[in-house]
Amino acid sequence: MKHLEFDVVVVGGGHAGTEAALAAARMGVRVALVTLRKTDIGVMSCNPAIGGLGKGHLVREIDALDGVMGLAGDAAGIQFRLLNRRKGPAVQGPRAQADRKRYAAAVQEAASNVPLLTIVEGEVSDLSLSGGKVTGVILADGAELVAPKVILTTGTFLRGIIHIGDVSRSGGRIGDQASVKLAARIEDLGFTFGRLKTGTPPRLDGRTIDWDRVGRQPGDEEPTMLSFLSKAPKAPQISCGLTETNEKTHEIIARNLSRSAMYGGMIDGVGPRYCPSIEDKIVRFAEKTSHAIFLEPEGVDDHIVYPNGISTSLPADVQEEYVRSIQGLEKAQITQPGYAIEYDYVDPRNLTLTLESKDVPGLFLAGQINGTTGYEEAAAQGMVAGLNAARQITLGDPVVFSRSDSYIGVMIDDLVTRGVTEPYRMFTSRAEFRLSLRADNADQRLTPLGVAIGCVSEKRRRLFEQKMEQLESARTRLTSVTYTPQALNSAGISVGEDGKRRSAYQLLSFPKIGFADLVALDPTLEDVAPAVREQISTDALYSNYVGRQMKDVEALKRDEAHEIPLNFDYGVLEGLSNELVGKLSQSRPQTLAHAARIEGMTPAALTLILARLRQNTRRRSA
Ligand code: FAD
Repeated sequence: MKHLEFDVVVVGGGHAGTEAALAAARMGVRVALVTLRKTDIGVMSCNPAIGGLGKGHLVREIDALDGVMGLAGDAAGIQFRLLNRRKGPAVQGPRAQADRKRYAAAVQEAASNVPLLTIVEGEVSDLSLSGGKVTGVILADGAELVAPKVILTTGTFLRGIIHIGDVSRSGGRIGDQASVKLAARIEDLGFTFGRLKTGTPPRLDGRTIDWDRVGRQPGDEEPTMLSFLSKAPKAPQISCGLTETNEKTHEIIARNLSRSAMYGGMIDGVGPRYCPSIEDKIVRFAEKTSHAIFLEPEGVDDHIVYPNGISTSLPADVQEEYVRSIQGLEKAQITQPGYAIEYDYVDPRNLTLTLESKDVPGLFLAGQINGTTGYEEAAAQGMVAGLNAARQITLGDPVVFSRSDSYIGVMIDDLVTRGVTEPYRMFTSRAEFRLSLRADNADQRLTPLGVAIGCVSEKRRRLFEQKMEQLESARTRLTSVTYTPQALNSAGISVGEDGKRRSAYQLLSFPKIGFADLVALDPTLEDVAPAVREQISTDALYSNYVGRQMKDVEALKRDEAHEIPLNFDYGVLEGLSNELVGKLSQSRPQTLAHAARIEGMTPAALTLILARLRQNTRRRSA
């Protein structure tokens, strides 16, 4: 029987798994990535796109730590759009529509030839444990991979069931088997499970679409890349098609609702509210007579088209009927019917901020298995688990992300403190410090951390330091001279005659003043590179707000500094309600800040906990 030894075993080669395995390998430990098929690596189960609102922020943060998602998205991108372009930079989200094959190829290439990474094809059916700690995994063929750290990233595969109308079968996604034995094993370990669902639309043969009868949506003229290292797209750029459902489509769907797996009572799991099926849309928004559909080609040399907006679990014959009721799709051929999938997820409140199990040391969980939805959310969790599993091997401190430094921190905190009741998707509205957590400054926020812990390549470190030097030098130039209102007004920059002298940097924080106005004031600024101009203008625009936000960030940091031991006994605190004792004992918050976010928590209860923490510290130091 095969018996191989590693430091970290990652189970699953999806978005969480590849990012986890690559991050751990970059940190210098021996990693095995086990996945059902090697060709699974980098596969997009649903829509062929990376990034978007909130998600684009996560991609930039993953990239800042030298992850693969941004670079692969850029290598495969066939259309780039900066979403929310008309709103402020803080809520803009870069998005790339990706050529599905090129994306998987780019991720597979990144994962090949990594000296410390071994890719193993197989099904993990069991976990090995000794003394309550994880010690490795066992494959269905009996082989054992020994490792003190195991990261589970099995996505929608745990007891997955695929539904197309009233036809249901076991599967992790179309064409793949479900993970049944592993699900039972994890449940035996005492993890709390829940059931969620998600769906995907039918795929169409683009050669049967009447492109003259649909609208067109081109990409941005100046593409915004996902990675800080990319300069320009590599693949040919395309336009998407645009059409919509109509009253006839709605009538067909409404007439067949009872045959839909989601409405016919075949599915118990909760679905993603922000990515509803077409059945959902028609029931929930009954007053609407049409819904937009984006016809997204799946690749430049692929005739398959992903009709974004009509995911479904209706029977195949109904899918065909309603698709053909749509303008431009009258003769469209379906190459693969849409389907819904229902799967088990593990309550993420079982995990710590490093995504390690609170009860089984060495076992980490990342990705859709934790109740999230989306490639970006999965990849970001993979990064956290991969870095931390490796840090435990190298005996470094945990790498913990905070709500004040990243969207990654926001997501992990939301997951482990609040848990999920529906598939969790990232939005900018989830981040209270979103003015400082922008996609454009993700490298300034996180690359220094990446350099410090050793997960960033020499090339990225060098380029980042060059960029910071340029920014610093430009900032010094912009702050070193101040101008009177009179001087500014005579240079054509209109400011109030309030007698205040202002630096060029302060002027940039006025929404109506741009870098070009400053050049009129000081022609030597002409030599500042366009990328530096753009970055410094955004930094200046937000500088006043960010200053105000810093007070809240400091308050959060103070509360985060009060760590609560996992075995803290809430039962002995007099004055704490039984309800709160129950909630706190169940969720075992790791810091006072986490305790504060538990539903029903009161300032009085927090004071009691803080007093006891201080008492314990005094006792220890006495
Ligand atoms: P996955 O990408 O699912 O990867 C899991 C990996 O684990 C696979 O490589 C698999 O081979 C491997 N694996 C599983 N079990 C084992 C085992 N026992 N041993 C070894 N390897 C194993 N997201 C959205 O944001 N919007 C959507 O509308 C949307 N719709 C979706 C519709 C469908 C039908 C599906 C299947 C997914 C959808 N998603 C959607 C979700 C998106 O695909 C996932 O969020 C993302 O892929 C999760 O990444 P992951 O790494 O956690 O898991």
